[in-house]
Amino acid sequence: MRFDILTLFPEMFEATLSASILGRAQSQGLFEARAHNIRDWGLGRHKQVDDYPYGGGAGMVFRPEPLFACLEAVLELPEAISLENPLAVDFPVILLSPQGERFTQQIAQELANHQRIVLICGHYEGFDERIARYATNRELSIGDYVLTGGELAAMVIVDAVARLKPGVLAEESPHEESHTRPLLEYPHYTRPAEFRGWKVPDMLVSGHHAKVAEWRFKESLRRTMQRRPDLLEQIETELDKKERKLLAQVRQEETERLPASDSIEENL
Ligand code: SAM
Repeated sequence: MRFDILTLFPEMFEATLSASILGRAQSQGLFEARAHNIRDWGLGRHKQVDDYPYGGGAGMVFRPEPLFACLEAVLELPEAISLENPLAVDFPVILLSPQGERFTQQIAQELANHQRIVLICGHYEGFDERIARYATNRELSIGDYVLTGGELAAMVIVDAVARLKPGVLAEESPHEESHTRPLLEYPHYTRPAEFRGWKVPDMLVSGHHAKVAEWRFKESLRRTMQRRPDLLEQIETELDKKERKLLAQVRQEETERLPASDSIEENL
């Protein structure tokens, strides 16, 4: 799998993509991420990439020529993209934008099926609209807030997608991981069994695998109910009979709980 990132700040990607799990996965050849400097295709002696907005107003806007030229070179297109020759590729060419579709785990899973992904990072006020319309085929936002540039958003997407590729994680991503289904993962504990008076739930040290699995699923439901009731609404129709019974138990337990007590111990 290959990511091509079009950016004005390729150096921002060096540390992130060469460290830890992603760095190891890249050196093992499991995926490749290349950052391309749009300024290399800038205009004139000063390698200009932006200009004042038509109609006036604050801020600068990305000009189309450098961006289109950079994309055409990276994709090695035989002909320039134009009205007569529109962009025609069968992989995502994604514009990072706070106006895009909200990036989710489901979109990460969908993107992980592609062998190639292009990510275009904006800066300043944003892009000339012709870039959004004719040089890309998807627009993604990582959340409802505005960043100074698309680089952090691109890193988020590369990370979330690359870790889904087989072999990138030492162990396969657990099925229970948050957002794989519309559920949050259960709480984790490790040694020591008791720390400053706080004990690990008895069930987890019982050695009874089936009961541990049931406890985890219940805590996953409880956590989702407490923190993301919107997700619980989505998952409810997918639950089988046994899971629905556990959900009913959690609901009952939560109703009986004192409103003020929401510490972890109260949930065990
Ligand atoms: N003027 C634009 C608007 O109001 O929609 C915001 C431009 S923002 C300052 C500059 C660039 O940062 C954008 O072109 C985009 O590439 C990136 N960016 C900012 N927020 C983002 C977000 N939530 N998700 C993805 N990219 C974002």
